[in-house]
Amino acid sequence: MFSFLASGAAHGPVNPWVAVAYLVAGVFFILALRGLSSPATSRTGNRFGMAGMLIAVVTTLVTHDIANIAEIGIAILLGGIVGFTIARRIAMTQMPELVAAFHSLVGLAAVLVGWAAYLNPGAFGLLLPQGGIAPVSKIEMGLGIAIGAITFSGSVIAFAKLAGKMSGAPILLPMRHVINLGTLAAIIILTALFAMAGPAETLPLIVAMTVLAFAIGFLLIIPIGGADMPVVVSMLNSYSGWAAAAMGFTLGNTAMIITGALVGSSGAILSYIMCRAMNRSFISVIAGGFGTDSGAAASGEGREQRPYKQGSAADAAFMLEQAEKVIIIPGYGMAVAQAQHALREMADLLEEKGVEVKYAIHPVAGRMPGHMNVLLAEASVPYDKVFELEDINSEFAQADVAFIIGANDVVNPAAKTDKSSPIYGMPVFDVDKAKQVFFIKRSMGGVGYAGVDNDVFYMDQTMMLLADAKKMVEEIVKALD
Ligand code: NDP
Repeated sequence: MFSFLASGAAHGPVNPWVAVAYLVAGVFFILALRGLSSPATSRTGNRFGMAGMLIAVVTTLVTHDIANIAEIGIAILLGGIVGFTIARRIAMTQMPELVAAFHSLVGLAAVLVGWAAYLNPGAFGLLLPQGGIAPVSKIEMGLGIAIGAITFSGSVIAFAKLAGKMSGAPILLPMRHVINLGTLAAIIILTALFAMAGPAETLPLIVAMTVLAFAIGFLLIIPIGGADMPVVVSMLNSYSGWAAAAMGFTLGNTAMIITGALVGSSGAILSYIMCRAMNRSFISVIAGGFGTDSGAAASGEGREQRPYKQGSAADAAFMLEQAEKVIIIPGYGMAVAQAQHALREMADLLEEKGVEVKYAIHPVAGRMPGHMNVLLAEASVPYDKVFELEDINSEFAQADVAFIIGANDVVNPAAKTDKSSPIYGMPVFDVDKAKQVFFIKRSMGGVGYAGVDNDVFYMDQTMMLLADAKKMVEEIVKALD
């Protein structure tokens, strides 16, 4: 049925219909990224992405005789079942570690494709008539394997840290910058030697390069901890895109090159934006180990006991009703408690009583970029009430209540004042300028992701509301009613 599309082996001549189909898929991916840049258009963006992917997959399936349809069908079925099961089981709060785990699979796929092409170049249309592989193809292969291996091991460590399977604190090796730069230089030299070597001499070079690439992914991510993890997640997203693009070169697949480059560059832009938001240097992120130099993040345990004020839902409801302006700062705890619907209900009730309510979203609130925006959108909070840090931070001085729900690091003033703090330098909300601060968390013992104490708990104008966020907000709603 699709015989007019047939284009032969991976590196064979490109059928114009295939080129057009891939181009259309590429345009759909660009429209997807455009849509995803705003919460209001993100659903449309997702649909464009799905349509683009469908076009790319169908075109690839009908134009390549890479494997038979039954084998591909079984692989899709198995992958589909695994993906469906994971998607159904995963809690929203586990999303970041899932994303990291999926990035690792992209990296591993790039390594396997590179190795498959090296071991069987004929199947990829890479075998020269005189035998051996062209140096340029070997460079593409080497890049795919190197970037893929870095993405794989880096993502595995990110997954372990985010899932709490290893300590989130930075692990700082002595002379790590020298080790990292040396390893990176060795990978580049080995790739160049691999490209120039004759067929008999390539095996030890590609093995050494693969091992070092796996090692550097690990070395780049272990020193990162605390508040710097979000940048790492988006950076690994970018790496996974470049790994896919490199795979596209090896497979001679234009759609993969386009898609990989789009993911790679959009991930890099997101990393850059997050670095700016966190006051970190982009270059030191790429170099790895840009986290604290002063050892592990402080632990919440064993800190001094200081006096604080505790209130009830009824107290909070009473004061919220009297307020003219309330700014809500959601954080990771809101996601854990799934309190967004109750929160929306509370905001609606306050607005009915003439209170102005706004939501303030920090770029690293929660555990993944856009985490809070997704949850608030799910609860149908109007987008025009949701503000970014730089747009709302000056308004705390006029706010009657800063309502902190499950956030902690993103309101911690230590980021501004304590040079030894793992979050030092990260811009935070100026909640101390609000007349009254309500702080919802479950207990005084718990700390935020960076593991540091927060002076906001002990301020004169702070009232701690110690309970599960959803339960507390539901009680406030009851009291407001
Ligand atoms: P934090 O992790 O700093 O704080 C979470 C707060 O929620 C804690 O005070 C915790 O206290 C409270 N909490 C947890 N569960 C509940 C619950 N059920 N009900 C009420 N409160 C609860 O969150 P932030 O959003 O302020 O900061 C995000 C942190 O995560 C930053 O350090 C950021 O760098 C990091 N990070 C962000 C990523 C991203 O992409 N956004 C990715 C990786 C890390 P208690 O336990 O006492 O309840």
